[in-house]
Amino acid sequence: MSINYFCHDIHAGLNVRWTTHGWSISPCCFTETKYIDVNNKDWFIKLWPELRKDNLNNKPLDKNLCKSCINDEKVNKQSRRLGEIIKRGEKIDKKILGPKYLEISLDYTCNQACMICGPSLSSLWKKYTTNKIIGNSPISNNKNIEELLKNINLDELDTIQIIGGEPLITEKHTELLLFLEKKLVDLSKIELWYHTNGSSRVGKDVLDLWKKFKLVFLYFSVDDIGKGFEYQRFPGQWDELVDNMIWFKNEVSPNVLLRIERTVSLLNAHRLLELEKWKKENYNSTKFNYEVFLNTHMSHYTILKIENISKKHLDFLKKDKKNYEALLKFHPMHQLIPNKDNNEKVLNFIKNQDKKRNLSINSYFTEFCSFYQ
Ligand code: SF4
Repeated sequence: MSINYFCHDIHAGLNVRWTTHGWSISPCCFTETKYIDVNNKDWFIKLWPELRKDNLNNKPLDKNLCKSCINDEKVNKQSRRLGEIIKRGEKIDKKILGPKYLEISLDYTCNQACMICGPSLSSLWKKYTTNKIIGNSPISNNKNIEELLKNINLDELDTIQIIGGEPLITEKHTELLLFLEKKLVDLSKIELWYHTNGSSRVGKDVLDLWKKFKLVFLYFSVDDIGKGFEYQRFPGQWDELVDNMIWFKNEVSPNVLLRIERTVSLLNAHRLLELEKWKKENYNSTKFNYEVFLNTHMSHYTILKIENISKKHLDFLKKDKKNYEALLKFHPMHQLIPNKDNNEKVLNFIKNQDKKRNLSINSYFTEFCSFYQ
């Protein structure tokens, strides 16, 4: 039986980031974005003609562009592609006139400098980077948002995902939603998703605005617990995060569903069971008894990605059978070849960041440095 390589995002997805050069776009969050001139009429319909044609002709997915879904499907994990097929069906039934799924970064203001992130996605990270940084993090304004949306058909839009920076610490997200409402987009047909670091709460105006949506998914970006969390999501404080997560649980309306989104890297691959146990015991359902799901994905764009693991570190992971079995659900670890070429880079990165942040990885992972020396 031939494999169906169909991907809804290639045809009806939009991953959009505001940059110093304007709007940069790709089919989904796992693919590199490219600058697009949104002042062209029908720019959406004209996007990626080769990629769309190949996908409609059921050509295998591009090994580089779509490595995230390819890796997930190798370990029978539900990839983003398969998730959208479950939600929307195995094919498109008519000509796509506009996006169904919009993932958007309006600004990179962030109060955290998470170890797996970087200066292009977090304004605070600029303080800790060794890269030469020119200018401030780009922040889109209402004119930029209007420009982005003026030449696309929004009739089919059913999902909006707002990412940052940290989307809940500025008004940008409400400006976008109120702009869509002004453009007569029916918010009651839309699922609204946020990835938030859980460091801040929202006002009654936002809680009321969320009531107008079909569903709101609030994903708390949490990779670990306690000291592990505080090291990886610096300068996030574990107790403050937990207080805020409980506040949201008590304040949101029934159409707001809560989730935990975990990114697996070299910093937490050995501690997967700790977060799973904490979630089960402390944050397993909402006030309306909807389950709080824990989603997991692998980190891709960081020196701390699992592909840079050393042999010693991999052997250490294999010793903890239960945790290793949990890891195998998220990545084809058996196909991973330890890469000693990056050991020094990984070690120097950790040492540099510890010095700049006045932190130590020994606060929760005493063995780490010995694995890369
Ligand atoms: S990475 Fe997955 S979801 Fe993204 S375009 Fe490729 S197949 Fe589609």
